[in-house]
Amino acid sequence: MQATDVEKVPSLFSRTNPFQARVLKNVNLNGEGSSKETRHIELSLQGSGFSYEPGDCLGIVPYNDPELVTLILEVMKWDADTTVVINKQNETLPLKEALLKHFELTLLSKKIVQQAAELSESKELKQLVADAEKMKAYTHGRDLLDLLSEFGPWKASVHEIVALLRKLPPRLYSVASSLAANPEEVHLTIGAVHYMAHGRERKGVCSVMCAERLNEGDTIPVFIQVNKHFRLPETLEHDIIMVGPGTGIAPFRSFIQERTVSKATGKAWLFFGDQRAATDFLYQQELEQYLQAGVLTKIDAAFSRDTDQKVYVQHNMQENSRELFAWLERGAYFYVCGDKQNMAKDVHNTLIDIIEKEGQLSREDAEAYLNGLQEQGRYQRDVY
Ligand SMILES: Cc1cc2nc3c(=O)[nH]c(=O)nc-3n(C[C@H](O)[C@H](O)[C@H](O)COP(=O)(O)OP(=O)(O)OC[C@H]3O[C@@H](n4cnc5c(N)ncnc54)[C@H](O)[C@@H]3O)c2cc1C
Repeated sequence: MQATDVEKVPSLFSRTNPFQARVLKNVNLNGEGSSKETRHIELSLQGSGFSYEPGDCLGIVPYNDPELVTLILEVMKWDADTTVVINKQNETLPLKEALLKHFELTLLSKKIVQQAAELSESKELKQLVADAEKMKAYTHGRDLLDLLSEFGPWKASVHEIVALLRKLPPRLYSVASSLAANPEEVHLTIGAVHYMAHGRERKGVCSVMCAERLNEGDTIPVFIQVNKHFRLPETLEHDIIMVGPGTGIAPFRSFIQERTVSKATGKAWLFFGDQRAATDFLYQQELEQYLQAGVLTKIDAAFSRDTDQKVYVQHNMQENSRELFAWLERGAYFYVCGDKQNMAKDVHNTLIDIIEKEGQLSREDAEAYLNGLQEQGRYQRDVY
């Protein structure tokens, strides 16, 4: 039983009818000099009828960067007030609003480039779409503005080009709070996505909207996305091991808050990691307080830029392999959240190494042991 288990009345709000949540707090968790920006955002859910459990996500319906929209309008010499059709139901919006709120502008799909080639006289564009490898390379890190500015003049009307665009999808964020500890609130931990590509600074639509254009008192459209596959143990006695570097810490803040309220008796071990201890130890003070209070039993933190040899969460797991295996043998649940590309794979392989070594098992049997944990719901991942 979770601390938030109360009789639930379905909310009127949903993915298709999002709730306008008021921003209570929006602060940068990274210290001065950090190369990262991670926002801690607190939203009011008052009036939404929403409830959530640790492990669930919040969906945010974002809008595009107004500067990017202005650049597209300028390059194409389009009139911002032209009425355009935005969907198959023939609903319409003024062009500027449609580009701002309705269409995805920052990612280019193969399909968009192929269809755009039909609307252009550019030989280069026609050659590009004929070559699958070049197309893949072209779409990586480029956006609609690149496509429109590189391959004009366009023989197409604004309506034909807008018809190529796909709807801007909502973004999901792990809830970083427990409803039992923060009634009618939800907290998030959002890493601002910035990168340079093809000579221009690129900004993640939703994360940068939250970092740069969302002030306390503003509202944003949100909904709850239930995730039944990432849940605390049913009972309070079980131990938990949480591996959450970077923004992967988010659901574990929620877990720890929940276990404080529910007075869980099981032990809790957190592996955290980021670039630098001085600037990037997210929620450090809070976590140390939980450690003192005994809600957290152990924290192992790895900072990759503080030492010559890069240290990551999996290295700390390895260093503690005997104890980690002992926890698993005593029934601990193992959770991983964060980067799917590298971290989750490294942690997975390290876990097998540990089981193999400490359990004195063959590789095959160690893999079977981990599969067994997964089947029992004791190895859960929330990776993106
Ligand atoms: C279940 C789930 C939970 C999540 N929880 C969290 C969370 O708690 N906190 C959090 O911060 N995020 C979380 N995310 C990720 C989040 O949903 C967004 O994907 C993220 O914030 C980026 O969205 P954006 O709109 O800012 O960026 P977008 O506009 O979607 O841009 C990101 C895209 O840009 C491209 N890109 C990025 N870097 C480069 C580069 N260097 N070169 C070329 N292309 C690049 C990639 O295609 C990438 O997908 C979660 C995702 C899922 C699915």
